[in-house]
Amino acid sequence: MPWFSYHGGHSGQFCRHAKDDLAAVVERAIDAGFTHYGLSEHCPRYRAQDLFGEEVTQQVDPATLLLDFEAYTREALRLRDHYADRVELIVGFETERLPPESWATRMAEVRASAAFEYIVGSVHDVDGVYVDYSAEQTLALAERLGGVEALQLRYFDALTDLVETLRPEVVGHVDLVRKFDGPNAGFSPKVLARVERTLEAVKACGGVLDVNCGAHRRGLSPVYPLPEILQRARVMEIGVTLGDDSHGADSVGVGLDACMAAIANAGYGEVCYLTRDAGTVTWRRAPIDTVKPLR
Ligand SMILES: [Zn+2]
Ligand SMILES: [Zn+2]
Repeated sequence: MPWFSYHGGHSGQFCRHAKDDLAAVVERAIDAGFTHYGLSEHCPRYRAQDLFGEEVTQQVDPATLLLDFEAYTREALRLRDHYADRVELIVGFETERLPPESWATRMAEVRASAAFEYIVGSVHDVDGVYVDYSAEQTLALAERLGGVEALQLRYFDALTDLVETLRPEVVGHVDLVRKFDGPNAGFSPKVLARVERTLEAVKACGGVLDVNCGAHRRGLSPVYPLPEILQRARVMEIGVTLGDDSHGADSVGVGLDACMAAIANAGYGEVCYLTRDAGTVTWRRAPIDTVKPLR
């Protein structure tokens, strides 16, 4: 009975908008019956204007983020060994497409900086402005770019570019750009045609989609991605996996039932999970009715 999540494990120890020490997050994952748990802390950001809200408030600078991230890496690898007989921790990080001019080099450097086993390829910005920070900021950005559709086209083009460049194992919250669009979120045919290109890139690099309950858990929007995208991905035979997007012990695993329902409703019969085999991580497929907590 595999039970897993590969997008999450953010902790207050290394991320200022999360809670708890990483060890507490991992222990909660063990208690919740996870057999595999991916740790994907946010990568560092390199420019003052890319700092998250709490980092600005706490006057953290990019140099400190680099040190935090190095400390995350050491602790995650230590915990992986420490808890090896209780849970299979897979250590990675979540990307940004920042700084706009040099993200590809930066992300490649981060990936090479330690023994990371996978990455969650995520885009959170368009033109250097975060699309998941507040409804007001996203709306203002859309207006500046010529409307919501224009923003969405730019977002999916950016994600396609990131997928083709970094070839992430997990593609994070594919349609994050509609985070603040509420329960009736949807995309125009023109945007869906652009999503199709993103999915083709995912397929070509062998990536797997993160079915993610982060915003759903907070009552903001349906799980990522929307049913029409998941159904299309299923037809294209693109694999899916689970992501709780946990930001502290109390969000570990919370909402994954909605992800499982979305996967089943899209017609998938199997869910992918990353597991270590002779020292390297590989994707396996589990029949959907076997995917559940260990106890
Ligand atoms: Zn976060
Ligand atoms: Zn994210």
